[in-house]
Amino acid sequence: MKSLVSTLAIGLVCWSVAAQAQRTPPPMSEMAREPFQVFDNLYFAGTGEVASYVISTSDGLILIDTLYGGPYTPYLVENMRQLGLDIADVRYVLILQGHWDHYMGARELQDEYIPDAQFGAAEEDWQMIEADLGEQAPRLDFVIEEGDSLTLGDTTLHFEITPGHTPGTTSIRMAVFDGGTRHEAYFHGGPALRTDDPAVIAEFLADLERIKQIPDIEVQIINHFDIHASSADNLFERAERLANRQPGEPHPWVAPEDFHDWLDEMIADTQERLAAAQ
Ligand SMILES: [Zn+2]
Repeated sequence: MKSLVSTLAIGLVCWSVAAQAQRTPPPMSEMAREPFQVFDNLYFAGTGEVASYVISTSDGLILIDTLYGGPYTPYLVENMRQLGLDIADVRYVLILQGHWDHYMGARELQDEYIPDAQFGAAEEDWQMIEADLGEQAPRLDFVIEEGDSLTLGDTTLHFEITPGHTPGTTSIRMAVFDGGTRHEAYFHGGPALRTDDPAVIAEFLADLERIKQIPDIEVQIINHFDIHASSADNLFERAERLANRQPGEPHPWVAPEDFHDWLDEMIADTQERLAAAQ
């Protein structure tokens, strides 16, 4: 019994040291990026690695993911200010997955900037956050479930729970607008598979195949800079094209073939992972 306890204690120490090390934010000098407007109603305010987006509506703002915390919380607020967006106008904060680079800023935002905003996440991933942070965890105001939607002003987001990266990875279907022209977008909240469980891999695969059948998706919104088809450019290369876009040229994000190429690659890769896991 004693040896079990001490093994457990060593395990916990290792876990907490690993978790601490993992939660040291990368240097600002490497990660800071100019924020930019992607669509009429979508803004990128994230870093060189992990993204944070702001959706503007007729009745306030929705913030998606909250970066690493620490210095990245005022960074996020300042990025929004540079975009002409006031953090005080944020009505909802959505956390799409229970990994620290997506939620560590949430508590300080709640405590220091937007105490009245409503914070939401899927139940499974909220449990990850609470297990990780304990009393330092942010407050959860609402649970996101499969098939839920959220309407703020003129904007409705549709949620899908797409496990595989984390148990409650949340994805979003929404409309984006380019000079008033509507395009349907898909935002996968955790597109990198992080499990060896065949049942979860099969569910991840089924979700990808289902997403591929959703009609009219033209825009892929990505949560890390390099989630894209191997033939497509990354987030910042694309942003460069957007900045240099000439009148009449298509919007670089409106690229349904890139989205489907990415899905095809993901499906093929996941089929291999599933075969190997069985
Ligand atoms: Zn993650």
